[in-house]
Amino acid sequence: MDIVVNSPNVKYAENHIETNYEYLYTKAEKLGTKIEVTPVTEHLVIRTHTKVPRLGVMLVGWGGNNGSTFTAAILANKEGLSWPTRRGVQKANWYGSITQASTVRLGGDVFVPLGKLLPTVHPDDLVIDGWDINSANLAEAMERAQVLEPGLQQQLRAKMALMKPRPSIYDEDFIAANQASRANNVIKGTKLEQIQQLCKDIENFKKKSNVDDVIILWTANTERFCDVLEGVNDTYANLKLAISSNHPEISPSTLFAYAAISMKCTYLNGSPQNTFVPGILEMADKCNVFIAGDDFKSGQTKIKSVLVDFLVSAGIKPTSIVSYNHLGNNDGKNLSAPKQFRSKEISKSNVVDDVVHSNEILYKPGEKPDHVVVIKYVPYVGDSKRALDEYTSEIMMGGVNTIVVHNTCEDSLLATPIILDLIILAELCSRIQMKRQGDSDREFVGFHSVLSLLSYLCKAPLVPPGTPVVNALFRQRACIENVMKACIGLPPDSNMLLEGKVPFLMGEDVDCEPHKKKIKIQNGRH
Ligand code: NAD
Repeated sequence: MDIVVNSPNVKYAENHIETNYEYLYTKAEKLGTKIEVTPVTEHLVIRTHTKVPRLGVMLVGWGGNNGSTFTAAILANKEGLSWPTRRGVQKANWYGSITQASTVRLGGDVFVPLGKLLPTVHPDDLVIDGWDINSANLAEAMERAQVLEPGLQQQLRAKMALMKPRPSIYDEDFIAANQASRANNVIKGTKLEQIQQLCKDIENFKKKSNVDDVIILWTANTERFCDVLEGVNDTYANLKLAISSNHPEISPSTLFAYAAISMKCTYLNGSPQNTFVPGILEMADKCNVFIAGDDFKSGQTKIKSVLVDFLVSAGIKPTSIVSYNHLGNNDGKNLSAPKQFRSKEISKSNVVDDVVHSNEILYKPGEKPDHVVVIKYVPYVGDSKRALDEYTSEIMMGGVNTIVVHNTCEDSLLATPIILDLIILAELCSRIQMKRQGDSDREFVGFHSVLSLLSYLCKAPLVPPGTPVVNALFRQRACIENVMKACIGLPPDSNMLLEGKVPFLMGEDVDCEPHKKKIKIQNGRH
């Protein structure tokens, strides 16, 4: 179903949609005891290119649980597969993907899939390739992952057996020692030679698959944090030199980001480590290439960023949040090593900060709830991760409210739709440009190289310097929805619904003052 917007502010051209859009926001500043508030209106022209490219995706860690499940999900949906389960026949779907399985209200009770607001890449059309330090083909990887039902695996096996990850960069100093036995498919040589090989791989994939653009996404094991060192990875120039001198503190993921940016490919980080050292941030900015991350926001953190937002915005004060996980997949095995766990702990920890900071009635400046995260490796549960969370809050008059959540879920079936959304939305962002109305002598510009619009999908969102981090899930979702609506000249859904509350906006005759008739006074109350 095509969406056609009736507005003089929206023009449909052969290759783009252009809207004259009033972007309204508010500036506020505390000046002593006074708060000065200024509503601002920016008159923008937003141009969205409508030609959707043939898109290639290269996954780092292709043979992992996420990589193999994502590949299987693309094939299963494309081929419309179904398979028997003990509960009946299951059909392939994209539940959990906001672009494919969530809707947006246009007006009244008309809803459309989020991914249909603008032309976006169809998942069936994605072409997949990637790297892994393990040589298993994708059929073997899918079997090893133990995520999908055997009836589905059987139907996919022949096609997936033809897919083989390219050798990758293995540095035992960055992932857990317990991963060493997996590393049988590695690129030899210095760091510079390894980057050159990655660039050749990207080039080779582009040629062989005839894709217009390539997006690269890290879904390999969590690395330890690297040290940010002066003269090494603190600037683009230093990073370049450090790579040439084979500096040990440059992580494989930073090498991947470097190669991606130099090949003009968007780079997305699905794991928690600090791939995006200052040198990479500067490089992405200079080269005008998108980067986004960090760490897929799939389960426990997603709930946390809803629940804490709900509690604090209800005027309730969370005082202690304790999160316990156990999982038995290879991710869990890697995270059982202290340095790799620390990366995850950092990424899971800051998720409530912005919400807490927003309410000075509940929290004194600098005050935070106690927040503890535990992760344990229990092989038996495989990919079916358990997350147990206890939220303790102070309610009125010193009352204490404890909420306990127990979540059991296949981890990779939560992460796979997020991988899809990251790719589809990142590609869409590369087709959106804007400038101020009247700036006829200026070029249109795209988003900042740090693509914070993807925050909804990330546990520890990376944002452009000096801009606020938003963790609250529905604010993050509203950002995506409202930017997409702006591209077709529609205002954000304010939820005021005055058209259903005020008589003259409801189309009633104002002369007979119907609202007065409707107000009944009972016991002095309306
Ligand atoms: P996995 O261990 O099953 O897969 C990771 C794959 O990466 C393995 O096949 C491994 O051989 C490969 N690998 C390791 N180092 C590599 C390198 N340098 N280059 C190429 N390949 C390399 O893990 P998974 O469950 O697929 O998760 C992948 C990542 O996603 C982890 O870092 C995890 O923390 C992160 N993550 C997962 C979820 C989730 O819900 N599944 C959520 C948030 C983040």
